[in-house]
Amino acid sequence: MAAASFQIASAPKPDKLRALGIMALNGMFDEMDGVSVLRQAVTELLVDDVAIVSSFGADSSVLLHMVSQVDPSLPVYFLETGKHFPETLAYVETLKQHLGLTNVIALTPDAKDIVRFDPAGDLWETDPDSCCHIRKTEPLDAVVTNLGGWVTGRKRYQTKERGVLPHFELTSDDRIKVNPLAYFSDADVTAYKLKYGLPEHPLYNMGYKSIGCAPCTSVVAEGEDPRAGRWRGLNKKECGIHFDFNGAIAKPMAAQELNLFKDGAFIADPFRTWAEGDDAGSVRYTHVPLKVFLEQREAFLANPHPLGLLVSPGDNVELVEKDLGRFASVAINFPGFTDGRGYSSARLLVERYGYKGELRAVGDVLQDQVPLMRRCGITAFVVKHEPTRKALIEGKLATVDIFYQPVGTTEIPVGTRPFLRRAVETV
Ligand code: SF4
Repeated sequence: MAAASFQIASAPKPDKLRALGIMALNGMFDEMDGVSVLRQAVTELLVDDVAIVSSFGADSSVLLHMVSQVDPSLPVYFLETGKHFPETLAYVETLKQHLGLTNVIALTPDAKDIVRFDPAGDLWETDPDSCCHIRKTEPLDAVVTNLGGWVTGRKRYQTKERGVLPHFELTSDDRIKVNPLAYFSDADVTAYKLKYGLPEHPLYNMGYKSIGCAPCTSVVAEGEDPRAGRWRGLNKKECGIHFDFNGAIAKPMAAQELNLFKDGAFIADPFRTWAEGDDAGSVRYTHVPLKVFLEQREAFLANPHPLGLLVSPGDNVELVEKDLGRFASVAINFPGFTDGRGYSSARLLVERYGYKGELRAVGDVLQDQVPLMRRCGITAFVVKHEPTRKALIEGKLATVDIFYQPVGTTEIPVGTRPFLRRAVETV
């Protein structure tokens, strides 16, 4: 049976029509085989606008074989987290050769993120969600941001959470996730591998039924959920790139807003704000208000996780001078356009106390303020104001060329200081 053609008009946000379109697609392809679903996705629904994501794990050969049938030059993205078993890296090469895949692309984490958040390489142990975030979600986000969707190898039988996985899902950021193997059973996977003589992952016959990063993968006992060996002992089932699926067909995901502007782009923010009830000894990736930090200083200093500090107008940053090295990020709160106290705090932190971590502006951050904030050492901005976001993305912010109060020792354009102007005028 030929795959039906079904185009969905693009829209800036998920809407009822688009969600209905996805539901209709699921109805049409409910009975279809995986190759037809994949072919529909890459030749009709998302032409030149889709990526295949593969873990090159225990079952990956099935989806990759389908890719080779449809088009071996399709881009296949492999999340090279830096934490894989050597056997997995060897298996990538084996499958490339065997299936003739010509466009396998390794996505690696941002080196700056690793230095900043996981310098010792043990974040998987203390904070696996954040580890997956910087090693998987962020690198993949950078690719799929420019695409209409991507193809996964997930299957219903793998976990309870995936029990009603559909062929097509709509995410809240208006992308389509395609799951050609959604209806495959464990037996279907085995039969498919046998039928096409696909090479097995070297660890599969050693009891690894679902294979991800080495530190987070263990052998699965007979009768266990195949993914039971992933993040064993932790209440974690997914790596973050599939969080959006919660059981309903085509259920939009709760997409993380990209509000943090840093290094020239809006990125997902690993930090959150302090909430009542948070525990000083175990909270992580949280901007702790300066007052709260001082009240529970010992507990925060004993906390092993990355932390940030929130400085608000009226806070005395001198009180945390000795502890500044503890914070991976300091957020300066600018509650209103007319409140300039944040500029002074930023300058004190950078110039007097030598703070070297991320310094970000939060609150009422508007485009006219950004150049002034930058002069004070602020390098990151949490921005919701749409015109400001646009100006940042397009690099259309004003620069400050003339000023009365130079900042630091480097920013002193000749002839712009008042006494120099007077000197010029009297000549
Ligand atoms: S699976 Fe484990 S090691 Fe791999 S990115 Fe996630 S937490 Fe880190």
